[in-house]
Amino acid sequence: MVDTHCHLSRCVGPPGLILERATEAGLTRLMTIGLDEADNREQIALAETFEPVYAAVGRHPNDADGFDRDAGADILELSSHEMVRAIGETGLDFYRDTADPGNQRRAFSAQIEIALETDLPIVIHLRDRQDSDAAAAETFAMLEAAGEDLTVILHCFSVPQRVDQAVERGWFCSFAGNLTYPANGEIREAAVLVPDELILVETDAPYLTPQSKRRQRNEPANVVETAAMLAGLRGTPLDEFDRIVTENSSRLFGW
Ligand SMILES: [Zn+2]
Repeated sequence: MVDTHCHLSRCVGPPGLILERATEAGLTRLMTIGLDEADNREQIALAETFEPVYAAVGRHPNDADGFDRDAGADILELSSHEMVRAIGETGLDFYRDTADPGNQRRAFSAQIEIALETDLPIVIHLRDRQDSDAAAAETFAMLEAAGEDLTVILHCFSVPQRVDQAVERGWFCSFAGNLTYPANGEIREAAVLVPDELILVETDAPYLTPQSKRRQRNEPANVVETAAMLAGLRGTPLDEFDRIVTENSSRLFGW
């Protein structure tokens, strides 16, 4: 089993213990995601220290203000580290207004260029205000304009209205703990429509704790609850589903 998206340095407790619980739960690989220049370095340090951990480097859309040429150059430089296997998370977030949309677009397109240049997959965060599709529409358009050489992971898949489009374009759809929330029937319906070769599972820990532990902070071991629900929805035995997502992640991240 794998967790293709977590923020290990933000989880509660010493990383060694968190990873011990993850290993006990059957996890063999984890991708920890950087949010800004300092955070990127923390994730790389974790990946250097702990065997199952790999890192992604980028600038989160909520922190996109102040993104400049130097910030882009820094991501590009870190991306050549042997433990870095993805760019991001990046994208557009019109739900929170912590960063100017223009700055979000600038940071996003710079990271698309970096992903193309380095031939690393790009991890996409996208979030809309309720009943709006604006961020999703623009994110999809920008990714499509980048062309087929870009390998795309839609992290915390939450755009059921666009599942067919994502699949047609060959983008990976990664499902997080919000799949297990009672209100999210549409996400569960979409999860069935993603073919085996494009499906992934993640925690986004310490956020989005799966339903049975929802009062607690999330950690990578809990990916198993989301994976079990996904497997059940798709009518795939859990061990078979485990093999599928592990293989997909190996192909993507070369880990
Ligand atoms: Zn995240």
